[in-house]
Amino acid sequence: MNNESSELRFQAIHQVVTVRERHWVGDGFYVSTVFSPHRMNPQMLSPFVLMDYGAPRHFPPTTERRGVGEHPHRGFETVTFAYQGEVDHRDSYGGGGTIQAGDVQWMTAASGVVHEEFHSEEFSKRGGLFEMVQLWVNLPGSLKLSAPRYQALKGSSFPQIRLGGATARLIAGSLGGKKGPALTHTPITMFDMDCSDSTTAEFELSPGTTTLIFVLSGEAVAQEARSVRAGDLMIMDRDEHGRVQLKAEAGTRVLVLNGQPLNEPVVAHGPFVMNSRQEIVQAIQDYQAGKMGTLAPTL
Ligand code: MN
Repeated sequence: MNNESSELRFQAIHQVVTVRERHWVGDGFYVSTVFSPHRMNPQMLSPFVLMDYGAPRHFPPTTERRGVGEHPHRGFETVTFAYQGEVDHRDSYGGGGTIQAGDVQWMTAASGVVHEEFHSEEFSKRGGLFEMVQLWVNLPGSLKLSAPRYQALKGSSFPQIRLGGATARLIAGSLGGKKGPALTHTPITMFDMDCSDSTTAEFELSPGTTTLIFVLSGEAVAQEARSVRAGDLMIMDRDEHGRVQLKAEAGTRVLVLNGQPLNEPVVAHGPFVMNSRQEIVQAIQDYQAGKMGTLAPTL
């Protein structure tokens, strides 16, 4: 550790995970589950719970609705990133709209919403490349039954930050003296980063927090030690603080998720994420009793 006194060292890489499995969610989203509490230690991922990635895929034009119909959520937030293509969304709390390419939709399900997610009519008619991420962000037990909230975040609202030759779009939290527009319930920093040329990007996040780095496209060398490429998830070592460095090839895009771990039990079952089995049973009963609302019929 010869330069420890002059410069923060590299944060250690805890693990690199690569998922090749893909499955359909409804008939609109062909995704890999990049991480989930069913396959990994949920405490290591906290406050993040699950992430699905739909790598770029071409959909031919259609007049049919492609997507997932009415279903509930409780106890967490869904964050949907439309990278290519468009998603139409409606929920029982009155939220809805079209998530366009570059936009992020942050839906706090909390006590419970029922919603549907489809390719937009416009995109379906036109056809084309579709690429999206859906992330589940956990809520602490004290907020799991709070009121739902819906944030439609336009791509144009994200401050841009230069990290070396890369451009980061700050969605939530603080970076480079700027603040992202998303309201979060616990400390979260979230940004994606696009390298149009090959470059070295560096950043530093708060000590003791969870950092997950997902490579959307391209290839990079992390911490001068490990090569990562499209589809890889890099989990940083929470206990060893340091800076993160990516020497990226041109065309590399990454998504960086950082947050304060909640340190609470995680019981995930289907569309519900609670602290105990009893609360899952209650969620199922409340959904079946119509307490999470219903969607108005489509015209
Ligand atoms: Mn959903």
